[in-house]
Amino acid sequence: MSSEHTAPPPVGRGWCVDCERYVGDAMAVAYAQGNSGPGKVLEACVAHAREYAALWFAPQWLKDDIAALDAAERSSTYEPQKGHSPPSQSGT
Ligand SMILES: [Zn+2]
Repeated sequence: MSSEHTAPPPVGRGWCVDCERYVGDAMAVAYAQGNSGPGKVLEACVAHAREYAALWFAPQWLKDDIAALDAAERSSTYEPQKGHSPPSQSGT
């Protein structure tokens, strides 16, 4: 167990389960339990990962990962993409 959890999660090329395509900024959003053997890691792009983290049933580690990403974005070592805007949603 680590005393701090401030490092952003590894983000790289992977399959976004929401975009249903390979993206360059995929990160783990869920760990599916298999009947036997190792569990399967579900990945999503950062944009979708943020949406998952905002859900009430999102695991705490995912919220922490997003918080760490946000902290990294605010630091000078990370260059945020221009023209970033949240996806349009139809209010329910
Ligand atoms: Zn996505």
